[in-house]
Amino acid sequence: MKLVLSLLLGVAVVALVAQDVVRKPGDLGFKDTPMLPGGKWHVHDSDRPRPKQITPGAKLGDAPSDAEILFDGKDLSQWMQYGKGADKDKVVAPQWKIVDGELVVAPGTGFLLTKAKYGDCQLHIEWAAPKDVKGTSQARGNSGVFLMNRYELQVLDSYNDLTYADGGAGAIYGQFPPPVTPIRKTGEFNSYDIIFEAPKFENGKLVKPAYQTLLFNGVAVHWHKELLGKMTYRQVGYYEPHGDEEPISLQDHSNAVRFRNIWVRRLKLAE
Ligand code: MG
Repeated sequence: MKLVLSLLLGVAVVALVAQDVVRKPGDLGFKDTPMLPGGKWHVHDSDRPRPKQITPGAKLGDAPSDAEILFDGKDLSQWMQYGKGADKDKVVAPQWKIVDGELVVAPGTGFLLTKAKYGDCQLHIEWAAPKDVKGTSQARGNSGVFLMNRYELQVLDSYNDLTYADGGAGAIYGQFPPPVTPIRKTGEFNSYDIIFEAPKFENGKLVKPAYQTLLFNGVAVHWHKELLGKMTYRQVGYYEPHGDEEPISLQDHSNAVRFRNIWVRRLKLAE
């Protein structure tokens, strides 16, 4: 009788949660378990907010359902550019071109920036150097992915070519080389999957640095790397205060580098 009652009670409790699924007591958690460090949640806490289910991309690299699509081969509606000379502070229509569904740097026109601003984020981007090899080192298929329009993850045709270690493909430019360079042949597309944690400033002072993680063609090359500061050339990177969110930008380094399949997810890494 007691067993029947407790079973009925268990079923009744579960029925309140989901009417069409019969759950066992404990399926949805407990309140009589020890507290986890931090004193907020029990182990398997039934009140702890559950993760929202999203739909992943059909294949690895495809955008999941909660991503913001920055470029899918069709248009540059998510991007802007600044003018030249007297118009350098004026937003102009993007000058970069879409060719066969790929976004191509228009050399000499300047950086491409997202209209929206981002802080902590996950960014997927695919890039390819021009098929015709021209130049060496930094002059060969150079571009860059700039998180917060400052922190450069280098894009370079490092395939069978040499440059300084902290300036090759997959380098956090001027700071950290990747331990290996898992790059594809010149002209073929590479992928970067980036997790970026934005720096924090208070009253114009840095209180938390930026961190970056990178999978380069699926290979882990940077893990929660603490950045020294913004991209610099021939000097040590340093921080300058900026907003909690800033645009993502792509570098015009005078080479017709191509991009495709760009998407971003906003994260809250401090939580
Ligand atoms: Mg670059």
